[in-house]
Formats: sequence, structure tokens, C-alpha cells
Amino acid sequence: MRKITIFGSTGSIGCNTIDLIKRTPDDFDVIALTGGRNISKLAEQAKNLRAEIAVTAFDDCLDDLRDALGGTGIEAAAGESALCEVADRHAHWIMSSIVGAAGLAPGLKALEQGTTLALANKESLVTAGALLKDTAEAHGAKILPVDSEHSAVFQALVGEEMEAVERVIITASGGAFRDWPIERLKDATLAEASSHPNWDMGQRITVDSASLFNKALELIETHEYFDIAPDKIEAVIHPESLIHALVGFHDGALMAHVGPPDMRHAIGYALNWPAREHLPVDRLDLAEIGALTFRKPDEERYPALRLARWVMDEGGLAGAVFNAAKERALDGFIDGRIGFVEMAAVVEDVIEKMSGDGLGLAAITLDTVKEADQMARNRAEEAMSKRG
Ligand code: NAD
Ligand code: MG
Repeated sequence: MRKITIFGSTGSIGCNTIDLIKRTPDDFDVIALTGGRNISKLAEQAKNLRAEIAVTAFDDCLDDLRDALGGTGIEAAAGESALCEVADRHAHWIMSSIVGAAGLAPGLKALEQGTTLALANKESLVTAGALLKDTAEAHGAKILPVDSEHSAVFQALVGEEMEAVERVIITASGGAFRDWPIERLKDATLAEASSHPNWDMGQRITVDSASLFNKALELIETHEYFDIAPDKIEAVIHPESLIHALVGFHDGALMAHVGPPDMRHAIGYALNWPAREHLPVDRLDLAEIGALTFRKPDEERYPALRLARWVMDEGGLAGAVFNAAKERALDGFIDGRIGFVEMAAVVEDVIEKMSGDGLGLAAITLDTVKEADQMARNRAEEAMSKRG
């Protein structure tokens, strides 16, 4: 039996992970499940999977969690220290699917126990890629990508030499507004931005898909995970979301990963790696699909892509600053404080203010990352107050 833990089990990736493990329950011994404020869902999952412990990220939810688990013998805990404590409990496979920079500390703790970390939480690679990779190496842990594009690249690279890689192309659906005239974007509402044409995901990543901030994070994630130079990484709009990424080799060949837009594909690959097992995803009928289309992303419409280039060129703590400013700007849009196109303007403001601070040269530790993250959030607040 494999011992497993799922961080962010109540979210979209967490639920898809549970959907897969529930199909062969005798193969898995669930140690910990973690969530946020959806206590009834967390408790129900913990009971169904007979988890050892359930953790809510929020202290004020602990009493409700204790009540919901009363009489089951399942432990209940709360807060960041509890998340790090369960990350330290022995597990063979740990899913990192908290949304945002909050996933970093538990992910690092998990790597310190030398486990296999299935990484959906792209924000931790963006904010502290070097720290994550060094920690994995120091403790003999393995990080497996779960983001669909990165799982696709990972799969296209099996058996290949990195020296032969000429370029990596990750695809983007273009999100909710891909066919909107650019002038209309300033009036985009939260409800409109929260509906994805192809993927069913958490709200934050769905809005980030509409602004292409998600793709910006993923360009940086590609650079960090695969150690590929920024000028070899591209994003292309592919409205059908069937090709997830392509790797180009120096003989001119392009290896593409093609599959339905279903995250169980990438989660299942990380769960079964290095084997491939049967997965309950749709099989594509190419003749019925007929055509796959591609177009170049427009950086005027999507300034996030240009900002990602700055982050990759700067290095160091630039990723932490970019991600934190983006998270705060996204909060601002969700709360109705700023408009859709102002998110990129706020992030750019923060970057302009902080880019002279020697970010690229700074050492990356959990403390320096947290400090840069907090500073960027404060700057983003200032930028939003000026606009508001
Ligand atoms: P979600 O919003 O559906 O779920 C997020 C989970 O994190 C929930 O369990 C929530 O309770 C928990 N959480 C929220 N705030 C927290 C905090 N401060 N501390 C601890 N836990 C907290 O998000 P999702 O769509 O499942 O995405 C999760 C991660 O996976 C993100 O990093 C996202 O970018 C990445 N990802 C998601 C998809 C997808 O299809 N949903 C695809 C690729 C990558
Ligand atoms: Mg993705």
C-alpha cells in the first residue's frame, strides 16, 4: 500500500486526484488531506478515504472541523504549522495542489522527507524554483510536474537528451476572452472571466487563464522545472486545448503530447510514474475533431507574457515578486476593486518599483522569499489604492 497525502484535497486538482485513487482504494493508505474553508467537503473526504488526519489552513475553522470529524478517530488540525507538520509525516507520494504561494512551505517540508512530490502548485516553482530543486536534490526527493503542459513536456522528453532540445512550446487556450475585441476587455466582469471555454478548474486559475497570467506563470515554470533558457520557450494560442505542449529537437522534429483537456491525465501520469496505467479519460477521435488551430499570442492584449520574460531574465526573487503582485491584483479584481486589464498594470507597477532592488542577485531561502512576497503584496496594495 502506498501512503499518500493530498494538499488542497478540496480543490479542483485535489478532487480529481481523489477520483483516481478511489478507483483502487486498496492500493492507497491516505495519511493527510488538507483544505481551506470548505469543512464539510474536507471532512467527507477524510471519512470516505479513512485519512489519518485532516487539516484546514484556517485556525477559525478548526472547531467546525473537529465537530465534523467527531467520533471518527480522525485527527483534526489547523494553520500553516499544521500543514508543515503533516508534510513531515511519512508518505510515498504527496500531491501539492494548494493554490498560490501558500503551497510553498508545505511543499518544501514534503521534499525534506525525500518523498515524491506531484507538483500542481506552479506558484512554488515560480517563487522559489532553485530552493525547491536544491531541497529535492539534497534529500533524494523527486518532483513530478502535474500542470498539463509540463507533464506533456516531461512525457515528450522520456528517453531524450536535453542537449538535443531546441525549443519548448506550451499551448494556451486563450481563456474566456480570446475572441473579444481588445477594447472590450476593460469592462470584463468577474463572472465572465471565471468561465473557461475548455477546462474546469478553480476560480483563481480560471481568471488567470483569461488574462494569460496563468501562461506567464507556466513559461517561468517551464524555465525552472526543465532548466531551459528563456529564449527557447514559447507559448502559442491553441483554442482546442488538445495539444498540451511540444518539444522541438535539433533534428527539426516536434514531439507533441495530445489528449483531452482532463487533468486526470497529468495527475494519473504523476501518480503511476514511471509506469503508465489505464486512465478513465476520453479517447480522442481525430477524424471527428478534424482540425487543430494555432495563433501567436498578442502581447498588447496579454502583457502578462511580456512580464514573464522580465522575471526569467532577472531571476532570483523576481518570480516571488511577480507571483505575489499577481495574487494581490487578482484578489483586487475578485473583490471588485480594480478592473480586468488593471491587474497587469498593477503587477507592472510593482515590478517597476522593485526591479532596482537587486532582486536577481538575492539568495533564495524561505525567509527571503516570504519577505519579497510580502513587500510585493504591500506595493500592489499601494498601486491599487492609487487606482481605486
Ligand atoms: P482550487 O481553488 O480549486 O483549490 C485550491 C485548494 O487549496 C483548496 O483545497 C483550498 O482549500 C486550498 N487553499 C486555498 N487557499 C489556501 C491557503 N491559503 N492555504 C492552504 N490551502 C489553501 O485550485 P485548483 O484549480 O485545484 O488549483 C490548485 C493548484 O493547481 C494551483 O496552483 C493551480 O495553478 C494548479 N493547477 C490547477 C489546474 C486545474 O485544472 N485546476 C491545472 C493546472 C495547475
Ligand atoms: Mg497548465
